[in-house]
Amino acid sequence: MKTYLGMPTAPAGVGALRGSLSFPDAAKPALANAQLRRNLGHATRTIRAKRAAVVGEVPDWEELRLAGQAIKKATMARLDEHLERLEREVTARGGQVHWALDANAANRIVTEIVLASGATEVVKVKSMATQEIGLNEALESAGVTAVETDLAELIVQLGHDRPSHILVPAIHRNRSEIKEIFQREMHDAPADLTDDPRRLAMAARAHLRRRFLAARVAVSGANFAVAETGTLVVLESEGNGRMCLTLPETLITVMGIEKIVPTWDDLGVFMQLLPRSSTGERMNPYTSMWTGVTPGDGPREFHLVLLDNGRTAALADEVGREALHCIRCSACLNVCPVYERTGGHAYGSVYPGPIGAVLSPQLTGVAANASLPYASSLCGACFDACPVRIDIPSLLVHLRSRVVEERRLPSPESIAMAAASWLMASPRRFAGASRAARVGRLLSRRGRISTLPPPLSAWTATRDAPVPPPETFREWWRRTDGGRDGS
Ligand code: SF4
Repeated sequence: MKTYLGMPTAPAGVGALRGSLSFPDAAKPALANAQLRRNLGHATRTIRAKRAAVVGEVPDWEELRLAGQAIKKATMARLDEHLERLEREVTARGGQVHWALDANAANRIVTEIVLASGATEVVKVKSMATQEIGLNEALESAGVTAVETDLAELIVQLGHDRPSHILVPAIHRNRSEIKEIFQREMHDAPADLTDDPRRLAMAARAHLRRRFLAARVAVSGANFAVAETGTLVVLESEGNGRMCLTLPETLITVMGIEKIVPTWDDLGVFMQLLPRSSTGERMNPYTSMWTGVTPGDGPREFHLVLLDNGRTAALADEVGREALHCIRCSACLNVCPVYERTGGHAYGSVYPGPIGAVLSPQLTGVAANASLPYASSLCGACFDACPVRIDIPSLLVHLRSRVVEERRLPSPESIAMAAASWLMASPRRFAGASRAARVGRLLSRRGRISTLPPPLSAWTATRDAPVPPPETFREWWRRTDGGRDGS
């Protein structure tokens, strides 16, 4: 595996939003908010119906799911090789690859590139990875404004809010709330703006168009990266991504290392699975692909930041690593009865819903997210909906066992075994302990020890303890010259 820039520090971003509240406590305000539940119920029902219709059209849907699952599993098994291939191909085509161990390193890399370009504003394509690392805040503290250009992300940003859904970050807002946000925060919003969805979209379009044309640097995430040619892929619905990926002079892509696919054939499978599972479309409106830089066409500088931020730790868990197969379609959120009632904020992570409940604890530590694996009824709807067949219920149970293990107080047996292990690891300590054990002879009566002080009394309550011999084996060995004198 490559050497990453940055010292190991706790991953930032994921799991930091809920503060010290457990999931049940964080969910209480959402459960008491009738408007929020109406918004969520309406939106998830609509997406579910669209998805079911387009998935039903594909006769080999289950075979596609199996293929997606197999590709992900095989890719994770040789992730280091695929990443190094990707780095070689991107570099050979004029791009620059940076390795970021954690959020701090990734933010530092991106900030340095932006500052070196002289830009004070960047336009952004919707990206979970940059939310995970808190990039907007890092740029802001360096004097750089990050403008979200996805409509829902823009609503969240202008509303000083947090995303609550992977695909529809403003799913918790209805159109009259959005109109109020635009009127309050968007300085160039039309004075006669109404809550008509078309009028709202047109206002955002005009506002963003000025930003696209002025931007010198863009930041994106990536849905996939094809290792065999070093090609990055972004799928989107609004065309804002295409603007960001083609107009600015410098393009910076921050990508979690698990997003890689080895070949174009592999990509073909996911291109069929993702749009149907996410927006309920046969094909998403905009698919942008780019490979390094091309003189006279698109950005003149391309930087790819490969982000670990807890992913290799997740990879080390043979069961939990399945969460890294996720292609962020959000189908599991839309079918989850818990998510539908609580919304995304209660999960305290940029990854809400069932996938958040299994991914966030692995990225930031099970102890910091101990309530998330319990944020599920284990009904299994998420597994049925997942296009890459991630067995989320089994992962939840596995993570619950890790929570229990981490919380478990050491038992008397485990303390005794740890002490025995420490003693036996050193010949000197073992010899000293053997001699000290002879003190036990003082407690013997008629060749037996029937009573020992607590906690050893638990043993002698039902059976005698053996009396230590007057001489240890080592002492006998030395005295008899290895047993040769016959005594
Ligand atoms: S876990 Fe599966 S269903 Fe959920 S977002 Fe990821 S790929 Fe989609």
